[in-house]
Amino acid sequence: MRSRILGQPIDIISMDEASELAKNAFLNSCQLKIITLNPEMVINASKNLEFQSALNNSHLIVPDGTGIVWALKLNGNSFAEKVPGIELAEKILETANQLSKKIAIFGSKKEILEKTVNKFMSIYPKINIVKAVDGYQDEEKFPEIATTISQTKPDLILVALGTPKQEIWINKYSEMFPKSIMIGIGGSLDVWSGKKRRAPEWVRNMSLEWLFRAINEPQRILRVLKSLPCFVFAVIKNKIFI
Ligand code: UDP
Repeated sequence: MRSRILGQPIDIISMDEASELAKNAFLNSCQLKIITLNPEMVINASKNLEFQSALNNSHLIVPDGTGIVWALKLNGNSFAEKVPGIELAEKILETANQLSKKIAIFGSKKEILEKTVNKFMSIYPKINIVKAVDGYQDEEKFPEIATTISQTKPDLILVALGTPKQEIWINKYSEMFPKSIMIGIGGSLDVWSGKKRRAPEWVRNMSLEWLFRAINEPQRILRVLKSLPCFVFAVIKNKIFI
């Protein structure tokens, strides 16, 4: 079910339902553009036309974060649950492995990408990794990169350029990938490669993964401070006055 937070689209869906949608997209060779939405993205969408258009054009927008689930519940969507992007991507990779699908990866640093590709080859032996391009490229090269990736006809494209770059890239070039699942995965490759640690489960259960990341990646603190209070204030104001 599609709902809205501060005017932005969001789907109220469980992890199992989202994984099932991805499986169906694989089985029917359909395009599926997935965004994993957090409060920072909600705040930034209205200030960035390209990102707003990416959000509007996505097929599936999952609540990736405690803040989004809190806002949904406050507005009466009591069944809303968190669908962490990294876990959804892992579920899609498991299905891609079962179905022997072709995948492409675009983003992150070269060494991180190499490590992840090696890891994927051992844990997902039936996946065919048809292309892996690092994400530190001149933006002028983005069309060329999209063309080379499309020539390999991937069933799944993992895009790890950080938000909103990854969502904008997916939206801009999606016509080249009419049969692919495309998902922006942020820093997931850093975790899969072993470079970064995900918050321990007890921290995640306390809904404090955002704080764990901010402490471990101090450059994120400013990002969190710029958007989270603003998000909370706007959601409460909306609840009271609208
Ligand atoms: N990245 C990239 N190219 C860039 C900027 C970032 O490939 O120009 C990668 C970066 O190496 C990291 C990911 O994008 O692996 C962004 O991770 P982050 O956790 O910051 O994701 P976000 O929270 O921005 O979605």
